[in-house]
Amino acid sequence: MDFRNLGLDPRVLRAVDDAGYTEPTPIQAAAIPVILSGRDLIGIAQTGTGKTAAFTLPLLTRLAAGHSSPGHIRTLVLAPTRELVVQIHDNVRDYARYLSLSVATVFGGVGEKPQIEALRRGADLVIATPGRLLDLMGRRYGNFSGIGHLVLDEADRMLDMGFLPAIRDVVRQLPRRRQTLLFSATLSREIEAVAGEFLQSPQSVEIGRRSNPAETVDQSVYEVPRHLKGAMLQQLLRDPALSMVLVFARMKHGADRIARRLEQHGVRTATLHSNRSQNQRLRALAEFKGGAVRVLVATDIAARGIDVDGISHVVNYDFPPAPEDYVHRIGRTGRAQAVGSAISLVSPDEADDLRALETFIRRTLPRRRLEGFDYSAPAPAASAEPPRGGPRGGPRHGRGPQGARPSRGPSSPGPGPRPPGGGGRSAGASPRGGTFRPRRFR
Ligand code: AMP
Repeated sequence: MDFRNLGLDPRVLRAVDDAGYTEPTPIQAAAIPVILSGRDLIGIAQTGTGKTAAFTLPLLTRLAAGHSSPGHIRTLVLAPTRELVVQIHDNVRDYARYLSLSVATVFGGVGEKPQIEALRRGADLVIATPGRLLDLMGRRYGNFSGIGHLVLDEADRMLDMGFLPAIRDVVRQLPRRRQTLLFSATLSREIEAVAGEFLQSPQSVEIGRRSNPAETVDQSVYEVPRHLKGAMLQQLLRDPALSMVLVFARMKHGADRIARRLEQHGVRTATLHSNRSQNQRLRALAEFKGGAVRVLVATDIAARGIDVDGISHVVNYDFPPAPEDYVHRIGRTGRAQAVGSAISLVSPDEADDLRALETFIRRTLPRRRLEGFDYSAPAPAASAEPPRGGPRGGPRHGRGPQGARPSRGPSSPGPGPRPPGGGGRSAGASPRGGTFRPRRFR
């Protein structure tokens, strides 16, 4: 299949050429003709499949064929996070380089003035997070009466983050006659309901089996006591094959603690989570992309939609309770045609979550043991690793034998020297249960 046979504008094709894409990915081959025909579309595709270009290339073609109208907005793309908005914007800018179309972004965490100005001027395409956009629309900024296309990107995650009411309020203010495209990594009953609410006679395009992790990713599990995860991560990082590593932590302060410990051991590390300012987050991403730091430690929502080519390994330092999160996480590596690896460090209190994932993906992940690693090292007197807990893991993980603190468990040798690799108490001044916060923040 050749990009040239899809009906794209020649100037868009030239930009695709510049990007070095030789042929469309399956979601692009399937979705581009449908979008060019003007039909509504549900695209079920995981990140890393080329779905951003799948909707951007045909929309740019259609926008270029029509007319801009000063003060009006012609296309609206809604995405769950600022990072994803910035990333879609970067892509759009590349693909639209030979067109004279205007593009604006709207997201929280930064000053609203330039965004208000951009909405006032009008734009061929606005890429926005639902919260800030609704806020500005509520104050009557932006003329949305001429919207011809609406894209709901990563719709599953927007629902997870509680954006449905905001999306409803935004869509209510858009013309009914429009083309609507919805993209989601998974097709759930909720997504079907949302599609029924916002789309008209959509065509569905589904790439790969539902909810199945990307098949290009080599996945493995290391079973390890929780208090040894830090030491294990350090030992894993002695392998230079782990050249560009995205580490997932469940909580923000956990991410900070992991990063601190790696830095103490000479591993250049950055963090990405919602307590960091927009500028800090963008800088962390830029350093990671540019190779100035080898490891990026992130929480799920902050890492949502990260588009960084060349991530060699994703490490689940904390195993995700929701199988969908696992799928999204490992989708950060093995993007497009590349190969990647996903390593999960699974402690006994996470065994249920691993089993749930394996049931979900109908596959048992291979267990590996780390050569030369001391699995029997005792927990330090005050474990640096708090047990699982918090609202999401709470009832299932917070109680019972599996949820007990590893360092206090019946088989634990109790207080003892630090685990190999150092660390231990140094980073142990971590907040405890009282600071656990809901995962669903905006
Ligand atoms: P996405 O799923 O939109 O996040 O895209 C994943 C990655 O694939 C991005 O880095 C794109 O630049 C890249 N990509 C998109 N389309 C193609 C293509 N046709 N051939 C090769 N790479 C692509």
